[in-house]
Amino acid sequence: MSTKKLTSEEAIALEDQYGAHNYHPLPVVLDRGEGVFVWDLEGNRYYDFLSAYSAVNQGHCHPHILKALQEQAQQLTLTSRAFYNSTLGPYEKFVTDFFDYDKVLPMNTGAEAVETAMKISRRWGYRIKGIPENQARIITCHNNFHGRTISIISASNDGGATKDFGPFTPGIVSVPYNDLAALEAELKHPHTAAFLVEPIQGEAGVFTPDADYIPRVAALCEQYNVLFVADEVQTGIARTGRLLASCEGCNCTGARCESTIAKKPDVLILGKAISGGVLPVSAVLANDAVMQVITPGSHGSTFGGFPLANRVAMAALEVVENENLAENARILGELFRNEIQKLVDTTEVVTLVRGRGLLNAIVINDAEEGDAAWRICLKLRDNGLLAKPTHGNIIRFAPPLVMTREQLLECVAIISNTIIEFEANEWRK
Ligand SMILES: *Cc1c(COP(=O)(O)O)cnc(C)c1O
Repeated sequence: MSTKKLTSEEAIALEDQYGAHNYHPLPVVLDRGEGVFVWDLEGNRYYDFLSAYSAVNQGHCHPHILKALQEQAQQLTLTSRAFYNSTLGPYEKFVTDFFDYDKVLPMNTGAEAVETAMKISRRWGYRIKGIPENQARIITCHNNFHGRTISIISASNDGGATKDFGPFTPGIVSVPYNDLAALEAELKHPHTAAFLVEPIQGEAGVFTPDADYIPRVAALCEQYNVLFVADEVQTGIARTGRLLASCEGCNCTGARCESTIAKKPDVLILGKAISGGVLPVSAVLANDAVMQVITPGSHGSTFGGFPLANRVAMAALEVVENENLAENARILGELFRNEIQKLVDTTEVVTLVRGRGLLNAIVINDAEEGDAAWRICLKLRDNGLLAKPTHGNIIRFAPPLVMTREQLLECVAIISNTIIEFEANEWRK
C-alpha cells in the first residue's frame, strides 16, 4: 500500500482508530522533510520549529548522515554485543574524543540512557562511595523530564505522566530546580549517590536556570562526593549554542569539547540529535573512575551500539562540527530572542520569551488549562510554521540548527504576524 494515496484526513483517522492514544498531535500529517522544512500529504511546506524535540538538529534527511546509513545498511546492520563489530570501536573512540570522556556506554533511546545513568550511579554509590546496600539515593528536580519508564517517572511530579502507574521506584528524592540551598541539604545526606539534572528544563517549558547554577551544582557535587549527572538528551549537541549546555561556563567555543574552566558532568547522557533524527541512538559517557563499575552481564541492550547506529552517530556529529552548528545556534538564537522581544513589548498575548541558543519558548498570557497556545499553534501551522504547546500556555521554538539568517527572519515574521492577527481577531473573544 502506498501512503502517497492517503489524504491527511484519512491518515489521521487511521492513527485514531488503530493507534494507542498516547499523544495528542497537532493536526498535520507529515510526509517528507529536507533541511529546515517538512511537507504534508497535500504538498504544503512548513518550517519545522520542533525538530522532533531537538532530535533533528542537523536538519531533515541530511545527505551526509543518510549516506552513512545507506552504506552501512548494505554491509551489516545488527550483530548484538555477543560479538565484536567493526564499527563500534571506531565510534566509541570518536564519541569519547568528541566529548572528552574516557568511556561510552551505547544505548538506543533517551529513557534507556537515563536508566543506564541511574544504574551506574547506584553501583558507583555502593562500590566506590560505600553507601550501605539498597540505601542509595538519587536527587532529581521538580518539573523534570527524563523519559517514560517506571523508574524514571518515579522521579516525576507530573500527574499526567504518573497517575495510576504506581507503585514507584524508591530511592529518588526531589528538590526545586535552580535552588542550590535545597540541593545542598540533600547532597549532605551520606547515602546520596547522584544528582540527575537537565541544564535547561526543556519539556517544563524551556526553563533556563541562573547562569551560575550548573557550575555551582558541579562544584557542590564534587564537594559532597556525589555524581553530577547531566541529562543533555534535549539540550546537548549544539542546540543551546554550545556543544553541551552544561558547559556554558566553559571557554571552549569550538565544535568539540575542549573543556577549560568548567567542571564537566561526571556522567553525561545524550540522545535525540546524536543520530540527527535518523534512528534511535543514545549514549552515556563517563570517565574510567565511574564507568569501571559496569561489568559484563550487568547491563546491556540488543541494539545498543549496533553498526547502523555507530555509523549514523559519527556522521551526525561530523555535521555538527563541519557546519558549525553550535555557533549558528548561538547567533541565530540571540537574533530570535531580540526580535521576539519586540513582539513581547507590543502585544498582550505573549508575556515573555526565554531560552538559550535555538532552544526557546514564549509564554502565552493564558491559564495553563487555557487553549490560546493551542489555537495559536493551529494558526502558525496555517501560516507555514509548526510548533507545539508544552504545559498548556508555553510554545517551544526549536528549529533545526542548519537554518539561515534569512530563514530565521522569515520565521520571526510568521510568528509575529500570527500573534498580531490572533490578538486582533480571537484574543479575549
Ligand atoms: C526526550 C528526553 C528524554 C527521553 O528520550 P526518549 O528518546 O524519548 O526516551 C530524556 N531526557 C530529556 C531531557 C528529554 O528531553
